[in-house]
Amino acid sequence: MPKNSDHPQPPDHTVTPRYMGIPSFMRLPFIEDPAALDVAMVGVPWDSGVTNRAGARHGPREVRNMSSLIRRVHHVSNINPFELVRCSDFGDTPVNPINNDKTLAMIEEFYQPLAQAGATPLSCGGDHLVTLPIMRAIARDRPVGMVHFDAHTDTADVGFGDEKYHHGTPFRRAVEEGLLDPKRTIQIGIRGSRSTGDYSSFSEESGMRVVYIEEFYELGVDRVIAEARRVVGDGPTYISFDVDGLDPVYAPGTGTPEIGGFTTHEAQRMLRGLEGLDLVGGDVVEVAPPFDQTGNTALVGATLMFEILCVLADAISKRKGN
Ligand code: MN
Ligand code: MN
Repeated sequence: MPKNSDHPQPPDHTVTPRYMGIPSFMRLPFIEDPAALDVAMVGVPWDSGVTNRAGARHGPREVRNMSSLIRRVHHVSNINPFELVRCSDFGDTPVNPINNDKTLAMIEEFYQPLAQAGATPLSCGGDHLVTLPIMRAIARDRPVGMVHFDAHTDTADVGFGDEKYHHGTPFRRAVEEGLLDPKRTIQIGIRGSRSTGDYSSFSEESGMRVVYIEEFYELGVDRVIAEARRVVGDGPTYISFDVDGLDPVYAPGTGTPEIGGFTTHEAQRMLRGLEGLDLVGGDVVEVAPPFDQTGNTALVGATLMFEILCVLADAISKRKGN
């Protein structure tokens, strides 16, 4: 593994204790120049797309805090993302908590310079609607595939009358806008009571591979990984992780919990199984700290971001020919 000591690094925690300082993602320096970066970690503190229990607007701040526990090297893959690529905390997007149309435009605009500079975003929501403006910025030129972990398909059409933009609709909109290739999309962990009998029909009719939680446990982690790799193939692929895909035992701090989900360890194994794909971005969304005063859901969110960061850094490093 190449040593790149000139890359931005978290301070050595054997010298500077991890509880010290102003909390940034993974204790990284705060760098706002996209040209200086390979991976930009971005907070999107906005949950005005939520249809029920709000709170994910507080996700980035708490995930930053708990991410101070993260060290440098992945204990299974041995990847040190901070040596492989140039990472920073890129800050939070601007938001308008009472105007969704304006905020969708503000988020997209925030990501445009990253996309233009070729920096890869790793984002922390916010509710799941934030993935739509991120995709508008990074998938303008060609649709991406997606490995999507969630209890919900998020491919509903409209709600509360004819409102098209809420956290249950981003991936239907992304397909309609040509940002997401449904045939290269897999949704893992789907479950929960439905409002209608045809809840997931858009996912299935558009060609997405929908892995309900029952099939997840029938197949097992390794075969689900193999299926995800088959579906997305070798094209550009985005990872979107809604923490409500996890069982609420592991992630109670979320707005729409559904019992009977996968475990944190199963999630970690699945993310590790995406190593080697052509990964172009990722996010962890729907961490809602007000529902989990212990902070554990934020720790889960931070650790899943580290898992995604490791496979992203590996993919970027290989694209750069390292
Ligand atoms: Mn979701
Ligand atoms: Mn969900």
